[in-house]
Amino acid sequence: MRTDMAAPGQPQKATYDAIVIGAGIQGSFTAYHLAQRRRDTLLLEQFILPHSRGSSHGQSRIIRSVYPEEYYSRMMPDSFRLWQQLEAEAGIRLYRQTGLVVLGPAGNEKLEACRRSLGDSQVLDATALARHFPGCRLQAGQVAVLDSTGGVLFADRALRAVQEVFRRHGGTVRDGEKVLRIEPGAMVTVTTTGGVYQAPRLIITAGAWTGPLVKPLGLRLPLQPLRIDVCYWREKEPKSTNMGSVSPCFLTVGLSQAPHGIYGLPALEYPGMVKLCHHHGSPTDPEKRDQAPSGADRPDISLLSSFISSYLPGLETQPAVMETCLYTNTPDEDFILDRHPKFSNIIIGAGFSGHGFKLAPVVGKLLCELSLGEEPSHNMAPFAITRFRDVLQSVL
Ligand SMILES: Cc1cc2nc3c(=O)[nH]c(=O)nc-3n(C[C@H](O)[C@H](O)[C@H](O)COP(=O)(O)OP(=O)(O)OC[C@H]3O[C@@H](n4cnc5c(N)ncnc54)[C@H](O)[C@@H]3O)c2cc1C
Repeated sequence: MRTDMAAPGQPQKATYDAIVIGAGIQGSFTAYHLAQRRRDTLLLEQFILPHSRGSSHGQSRIIRSVYPEEYYSRMMPDSFRLWQQLEAEAGIRLYRQTGLVVLGPAGNEKLEACRRSLGDSQVLDATALARHFPGCRLQAGQVAVLDSTGGVLFADRALRAVQEVFRRHGGTVRDGEKVLRIEPGAMVTVTTTGGVYQAPRLIITAGAWTGPLVKPLGLRLPLQPLRIDVCYWREKEPKSTNMGSVSPCFLTVGLSQAPHGIYGLPALEYPGMVKLCHHHGSPTDPEKRDQAPSGADRPDISLLSSFISSYLPGLETQPAVMETCLYTNTPDEDFILDRHPKFSNIIIGAGFSGHGFKLAPVVGKLLCELSLGEEPSHNMAPFAITRFRDVLQSVL
């Protein structure tokens, strides 16, 4: 039950069953699961929605079953099911099945793990790949693993849909309200630029801003925000490669020239332009991401251009459109999904390391379960805060 306590001339004050900080895809799905369980939930967002200053904006994200790590591939059936559930609830299509190929050197350990993660994977040589992905040239000694469930999630549309369904279940979104202070306690108190709110549970899903937000709570999380160049590349001859429309998504593993990986999606945002990005970026502060990295050269662009020359010769070698986005990486690139080690009613979901969108329905469910003291539906060991050393500061 919400109890509004605002007095004339006083900031907004209210009590909820749960407060979620950050209305990106992870916070929005957490709020959605809480509202579905009939918890009166407040979702706070510092910017006016929709916005493009975090990690969840844009039209497209890859979804796939294939994962080198078993603990993620085990979550994917649940995630596909929950995406379908949201599609049904919102009455809108959020997923386009295109298939996905993972390219890498034959015998590469990660590629083998990917193959194993698919019950009935197909390993394609260059000739077989040409049938699925005519625009792509495999290099000598390389193979591709085909994940036919792979495809594209319509990201902006998905974020809007999950927030809409959350509201429909009685949830409250307050955007344009930045959280300034969190006071732990049996009732956690959250002070924003617009009011003071209390709840017996708080979930922090503040993306690249999480580090500074949890520092006053005595937590030093090893989170590194990265500025990512999001690049779109035009076909040399329109419609010559099929990449503008019907080709699969792809990603690389084990390439010596791109150890972090490169991934691509068929044209969706901009007609005829293929999205192709380096799965890495330059360290940044989320408040300063528009300041381009120092120096004139852009190592990411050179790397992508050279990849295109070898693998996707039908594309121009300079990007036609460039945008930016933020990753928030942990040292092992696994998520953080855990309770605060000292304040067990404060839950943290962070460090999605450039691969969290597809799993957001499951992440939201797990954060909801943690906050309600329920047994989590999946193995949480890989996501524990305590896997990092020295996270608890002595100030507490
Ligand atoms: C270029 C790019 C490509 C990607 N591709 C894929 C992909 O193909 N597949 C995939 O699965 N994943 C992909 N990802 C990763 C995925 O998009 C992210 O993991 C996911 O969006 C992270 O969501 P989030 O909710 O944690 O962060 P965000 O979306 O950044 O949300 C955090 C929110 O918290 C708010 N906030 C922060 N501080 C405060 C405060 N003090 N008060 C109030 N609000 C606050 C922020 O404004 C923000 O809206 C990609 C990411 C990028 C950048």
